[in-house]
Amino acid sequence: MGNHRAERRDLYKVAGEPTPVGGARVAGGRRKADRRQPPTGVLRRVPAIPTLIGALAIAAAAGGAIGIGGGALPSTNLQLSSGGSDAFNGTDAFNFTGDDARSRAISRDSSRQAERDAADKTLQAAVDEQSQQRDAALASLAASAQNRADEIAKNLWVLPTVGYHLTARFGQSSGLWAHLHTGLDFAAPTGTPIFAIADGVITFTGYDGSYGNKTVETLADGTEIWYAHQSEIGVTVGQHVIQSAQIGRIGSTGNTTGPHVHIEVRPGGGDPVDPFPAFVEHGVTP
Ligand SMILES: [Zn+2]
Repeated sequence: MGNHRAERRDLYKVAGEPTPVGGARVAGGRRKADRRQPPTGVLRRVPAIPTLIGALAIAAAAGGAIGIGGGALPSTNLQLSSGGSDAFNGTDAFNFTGDDARSRAISRDSSRQAERDAADKTLQAAVDEQSQQRDAALASLAASAQNRADEIAKNLWVLPTVGYHLTARFGQSSGLWAHLHTGLDFAAPTGTPIFAIADGVITFTGYDGSYGNKTVETLADGTEIWYAHQSEIGVTVGQHVIQSAQIGRIGSTGNTTGPHVHIEVRPGGGDPVDPFPAFVEHGVTP
């Protein structure tokens, strides 16, 4: 019976032997096998501790400030930091903030200075521009005055009217005149303006027989210019007139066959000369 039990134990033993012995072996083998297995997906994404520490060391060496577990790196790293993270409050935050505020204040000051400089430059540019414009205006005025002075020095004349055609020359004879024609006739519609051919002084205005309404202008050199047959006289004796000033209007008063202005040129107030070459001599061709 005992044998039977033993047998049974043996049987059990035999039957169970592989379990404790082999089981332990198998179990140990299974653990070794587990270690050799590749890490699961989660483990694969978590860096090994030495790797993490190495990364921190590199970052710190590079001047970055890194807090670990709520702690902080030495203040030297804070000074190197360019950030203002809350992680550094309570360490060198005061100096850090002070430096930062000072830095911002300096930045603001230099910004304002830059704005003032820019405003000054803008104002200066405007002043310069106005100065240049004034200089240009003065130069233009000076040039104009110089041109005027040159014209006076050269004693240049202008024509006495516009839109005219010449109808009678100096020296021509006609049954209309008792003598040879003593002037140059510029025919144009009644009312056409008559201009002073040069600067001068008015020395006579009024009706004068066959000349009709007549104006005499005496130039600086004493030459008299007679303007005859006017429909209208626009100046008075003693009046100074400048070249091109309107002194009257064309008409047909006196001895005429139609509206025109009869121009006589009398050097020194003496006998008349041919106006045509006189105009040419003074720069204009009628
Ligand atoms: Zn005439």
